[in-house]
Amino acid sequence: MRIDLAQLEDTRLTYAATALELEADASLPEGYEISLRLFKKGSEVHVHGSIKAVFRISCVRCLTAVEFAVNNNFRLLYLPIDNLRADSELVLHEDDLNVSFYSEMFIDIEELATEQLRLLLPMSIRCSESCKGLCQSCGKNLNLESCECTSKEIDPRWQALLKFKR
Ligand SMILES: [Zn+2]
Ligand SMILES: [Zn+2]
Repeated sequence: MRIDLAQLEDTRLTYAATALELEADASLPEGYEISLRLFKKGSEVHVHGSIKAVFRISCVRCLTAVEFAVNNNFRLLYLPIDNLRADSELVLHEDDLNVSFYSEMFIDIEELATEQLRLLLPMSIRCSESCKGLCQSCGKNLNLESCECTSKEIDPRWQALLKFKR
C-alpha cells in the first residue's frame, strides 16, 4: 500500500497485514497492525505511528517457538532526497526522530512496517532462563526428556590421562 505524498494533507490510517515471514526463524503468524498519522511541513513528511505484532521466534537453545509481543510507538521524518544532494542546511530538532529520504513521491506502508518490525526483532530469545537446550549428541530437547549421552561422555580430564597411558 502506497501513500501518495503529492496528495498528502494530514492523513490518519490503520493498516493490518496478515502473516509475514521476517527471517528464517522469525515470523508473524498473525500479521501486524500499524496506525499512522502522516502530515507535511513544506517538503518534510512527518510520520507518527504505532505498531503491534506478535513475533514467533525460535528459542536459541532448544528451537521451540516462542511468542513475543511488541507494541511500539515511533516517529519518522522523511526528507526529499534532493535535500541530501544539495547538502542544504539540514537542521534536525528532535533527537528521537529517525530520518529517511524519499526519492519518489510515495511512501510504501508495508516497507515502512517491515523496517519497524525488524528494529523490534530481538537478537535472540530463550523460551525460559533455565532452558536446557538440545543435547549436542542426540538432539533431544533436554527440557522435555533426558538422554544417556552425558553419562556416557568421558570427563576430558580422564581422556587426557587415557592418552598418557597409551
Ligand atoms: Zn528453549
Ligand atoms: Zn543425548
